[in-house]
Amino acid sequence: MTTSAPQRVLVTGGAGYVGSHACKALAQAGYLPVTYDNLSTGNRWAVRWGPLELGDILDPERLQEVFQQYRPVAVMHFAALALVGESMQAPALYYRNNTVGALNVADAAVAHSARAFVFSSTCATYGEPAEVPIPETTPQHPVNPYGASKLMIERVLADYEMAYGLPHACLRYFNAAGADPETEIGECRVVETHLIPLVLDAILGTRPPLRIFGTDYPTPDGSAVRDYIHVADLADAHVAALKHLIAGKGSLKLNLGTGRGYSVREVVASAEAVTGRKVPLSYAPRRPGDPPALVAAPGRSVEVLGLAFRHSSSLEAVIETAWRWHQHLHATQRAAATS
Ligand code: UDP
Repeated sequence: MTTSAPQRVLVTGGAGYVGSHACKALAQAGYLPVTYDNLSTGNRWAVRWGPLELGDILDPERLQEVFQQYRPVAVMHFAALALVGESMQAPALYYRNNTVGALNVADAAVAHSARAFVFSSTCATYGEPAEVPIPETTPQHPVNPYGASKLMIERVLADYEMAYGLPHACLRYFNAAGADPETEIGECRVVETHLIPLVLDAILGTRPPLRIFGTDYPTPDGSAVRDYIHVADLADAHVAALKHLIAGKGSLKLNLGTGRGYSVREVVASAEAVTGRKVPLSYAPRRPGDPPALVAAPGRSVEVLGLAFRHSSSLEAVIETAWRWHQHLHATQRAAATS
């Protein structure tokens, strides 16, 4: 009996947080994920399920080379900068990396006849929506260069499909959270701005006490509300979207969120319940550009892709996996420092 070689999927940003979880899900689904990453924020150790090709999305020649070498059936494009505050200070950086870079990847996908393009988009493309929960039909009016840089690519992909026949899925994430349930990979950045890792690192003492940004939002407890979706559920959604596109079922624009919002104070309480420890914290003014509440209306992704979001059943369940990962990371880093 002969077994055929697995189909290859080019994963830009496969060494990053969401990208590495997608690589694991791709491998479990029988694909070979080929990571294309410049390791600017990603980690070499996170590339475990296929080859790593070092390269920048701003280097079209290197992209061509890697496409030629692997002839991927599809592309998952994660490589991007994703900090709202930084995008306000340095919009040029964001438009260049996130817009020009994604355009280079889409051009290479077209030139090499890839059959599907799965794009990490964001709820930041909605700006400050009038209605929450947010359905996909909500008008997209981003309020920062990060959201704008991603929305431009959503539009590029719609035009590329019409002109060049490249089917695409724009997956608009809400707040990615948690870590691999088997604790093989997880969130690990030198510069960390996201709530859950900062809460857990504050507990572990590896970063300063948490600052709660804003206690005067028009929300039940005055702190901002977000929709935290488990990164393993995001990864499964990417694979489901890829299969949908390859099966010729048509392009997609989907929210990836759970439909449940939690305030910053609820996240703190939940982390205290999971860890059995107090979160050292103080209060600070609102962070510029942070909307009061962002919660997905998740119905369409559940319906179209048949997703169950089983890892996101509760905030505790999400934080539990992140806590295991952060303890593991802390122990590994301590061992490395003392050896
Ligand atoms: N947040 C906070 N303190 C922090 C980091 C974040 O209070 O040190 C709040 C932030 O204002 C937002 C929520 O936590 O309301 C989630 O922030 P995060 O940066 O994780 O994701 P974002 O929603 O900004 O993409």
